[in-house]
Amino acid sequence: MDIGKNILAITTNLPEGVKLVAVSKTKPNEDILEAYNAGQRIFGENKVQDLTKKYEELPKDIEWHFIGHPQSNKVKYIAPFISLIHGVDSLKLLKIINKEGQKNERKIKCLLQFHIAEESTKFGLDIQEARDVLDSEEFKNFANVEIAGVMGMATYTDDETQIRNEFRMLYNIFTQLKNEYFSAADSFYEISMGMSDDYPIAVEEGSTMVRVGSKIFGARNY
Ligand SMILES: *Cc1c(COP(=O)(O)O)cnc(C)c1O
Repeated sequence: MDIGKNILAITTNLPEGVKLVAVSKTKPNEDILEAYNAGQRIFGENKVQDLTKKYEELPKDIEWHFIGHPQSNKVKYIAPFISLIHGVDSLKLLKIINKEGQKNERKIKCLLQFHIAEESTKFGLDIQEARDVLDSEEFKNFANVEIAGVMGMATYTDDETQIRNEFRMLYNIFTQLKNEYFSAADSFYEISMGMSDDYPIAVEEGSTMVRVGSKIFGARNY
């Protein structure tokens, strides 16, 4: 597994403006450094404990993304340094992130996660639930969170048409929310979609940020 080569094979084919989040969950620091030495700076993790450890041990110019759904009582550990939290799907979680942002005197960028897959196990809002969050008085008073866009995961299937339709659905949700709530804001611009098996389709459907793990680092053994 040549991690540096894998990074370059992906980044050279991404259109201008589409960012790569290298998903390094379960992988050791040495693998992350290989990607780092190939020029990669954005890494994604989904366990708070692993993430804080890696943050402490690895170069400080790495931009760390939390790609899952952080447990409420653990947000405080990542709040000082996290660049983007991809998996926000409730007002309750936003409230906690806002509180921790306040304590750290920073604005924490978040993506709203949408449920676009047919599997019932994947987290996420539907558009009406997102409107309810964005319309709430509580949300309007959050000074320490910034909604930077949307995130979603397609169904795990070989059916490309289905995957494409699900990504298209997320793109449409993004456009609707942009028009309804963020038309004057430059800060709402990310569409985080696409993983190892489906990121080329996601890019065709308007992704601005792909989250790729096994295609870079090899299969994970848990
Ligand atoms: C693990 C994970 C990825 C990367 O998955 P691969 O299939 O290995 O590319 C992307 N997004 C999320 C939310 C993940 O949990």
